[in-house]
Amino acid sequence: MSAAKAARSLVLVLGDQLDPAAAVFDDFDAERDIVWLAEVAEESEHVWTGKPRIAVFLSAMRHFRDAQRKLGRTVSYTALDDPANTQSLASELARAVAEHRPERLVMTEAGEWRVQELIAAAAKAAGVRLEMRPDRHFFCSRADFSAHAAGRKILRMEFFYREVRRKHRVLLDEQGEPEGGQWNYDHDNRGSFKKGGPQEEKLRAPALTKPDAVTREVLALVERRFASHPGELREFAWPVTPADARATLQDFIEHRLPNFGQFQDAMWTEEPWLFHSRISAAMNLKLLNPREVVAAAEQAYRAGKVHLASAEGFIRQILGWREYVRGIYWHHMPRYLGLNALAAKEKLPEFYWTGRCEMNCLRQSIGQTLAHGYAHHIQRLMVTGLYALLLGVEPQKVHEWYLAVYVDAVEWVELPNTLGMSQYGDGGIMASKPYAATGKYIDRMSNYCAGCRFDPAKSVGAEACPFTTLYWDFLLRHEPLLAKNQRMALQVKNLARLTAADRTAIRAQAAEIRRHGGAPAPAEGLLPL
Ligand code: FAD
Ligand code: SF4
Repeated sequence: MSAAKAARSLVLVLGDQLDPAAAVFDDFDAERDIVWLAEVAEESEHVWTGKPRIAVFLSAMRHFRDAQRKLGRTVSYTALDDPANTQSLASELARAVAEHRPERLVMTEAGEWRVQELIAAAAKAAGVRLEMRPDRHFFCSRADFSAHAAGRKILRMEFFYREVRRKHRVLLDEQGEPEGGQWNYDHDNRGSFKKGGPQEEKLRAPALTKPDAVTREVLALVERRFASHPGELREFAWPVTPADARATLQDFIEHRLPNFGQFQDAMWTEEPWLFHSRISAAMNLKLLNPREVVAAAEQAYRAGKVHLASAEGFIRQILGWREYVRGIYWHHMPRYLGLNALAAKEKLPEFYWTGRCEMNCLRQSIGQTLAHGYAHHIQRLMVTGLYALLLGVEPQKVHEWYLAVYVDAVEWVELPNTLGMSQYGDGGIMASKPYAATGKYIDRMSNYCAGCRFDPAKSVGAEACPFTTLYWDFLLRHEPLLAKNQRMALQVKNLARLTAADRTAIRAQAAEIRRHGGAPAPAEGLLPL
């Protein structure tokens, strides 16, 4: 349609709404409607966003714009480096409304509470009606989750997952019962690698997406415009179109799903991908539909290509965890964002932004995060998350870091995982107990400790592993609260093994770590990193 004529609908598409089958397109009329997208710096600067994440969003948006234009639709697209760009979502929207004079704005419900509020306010200020349509990408709508939550004091993923699996008939037998007789095969999924590492399990490198001309242009733009932001783009290889995303999924189903279950918690030096799928960003930007992902995993099981434990373990992450965290987010926002049940006040250590620290597990996990915008679940939960929890970092600061650095970070999924599951900031809404552990857990699940100057078994002294020191200090600091939690009983009981002198030494060593900005003082003769 010609831009001079007033439009019927301005269809707003945000960077995490790149689904051509979304409800906003149901009644799209190419003669009267306009698709609207805007790249604004504000969205990359309200948290100090990493370069890989910015590049994934911008490249996927530009590919979406081109695909819509190929359909013969009018797309109003403001590029980041357009001289007229005001770099603010609200004012770009106001500009578009003034130009196109639409009768209404149509959008899919936003993934982030802040953005939803911002757009509602901008529409009101512009005096134009906003029609918010449900997000059909998910198995469970916000209303379905509210119905699930109604009358329950505690919301646990496992019960929610069973309900969704039954409703959508996923991995059920002919009687409608869970395939294999159990809902959950997690106990088969806690393996670590043998001495030879993942290569002994015939690990095959994932098929990476080669940047095309659109992506290369975006990479150059991000390097230029966000030069001081964290992260690197040298090895950028993320799917940015539905076709790329499908290819990434197929490669995973064929080559890594068979080992996914057993090794989903394992970690290994210089091996960022292991047996993981790398599809979270593609799903969160809506390039890939979770129904297709779940169906592909179920089909691989039914065809005898993967064990039930692997297929179930993978499907649970998507049908269970992914849907459940979204439900928790919308059920508890905006109050959720401010929760801090452990009254944690420390700053996030500086090395989270550089990876420069002596603790090998953190160096590895943060290093690959900055290089790729990626770390797998256990690295996020039991390395970077665990350290921040034990140190006592303010959960909102931890949240800002996770939202900034991961390519798949969108607040509805990032916040409950960070503030709730990993930091226990919500006091038990997401997790029934804090995920607190010593360095021995990391030693069991990885080979990181073999390349580290610290000893995971020691809690005091020059060789003490900071995780282990801070673990005991965490229990001591929160003993009265943790003692009330039955699931922490054993851990709290172990405090009785510490003498008064042990307690004093642990507290002093933990205080020293905090005094050094969250890292142990360098060993004598070593220069600070
Ligand atoms: P795989 O390990 O192959 O898992 C398959 C899929 O399951 C993922 O792609 C993802 O869509 C889903 N999934 C797995 N675990 C979770 C979970 N706990 N919550 C929601 N979905 C899950 N995931 C995000 O998508 N965005 C985030 O911003 C995010 N922040 C996190 C922050 C913390 C502190 C923690 C502990 C976890 C976070 N996760 C987040 C969950 C999880 O770490 C990532 O989804 C996963 O590592 C992505 O890699 P993958 O695609 O290779 O996943
Ligand atoms: Fe991490 Fe401690 Fe192991 Fe070093 S010894 S890698 S700090 S867990």
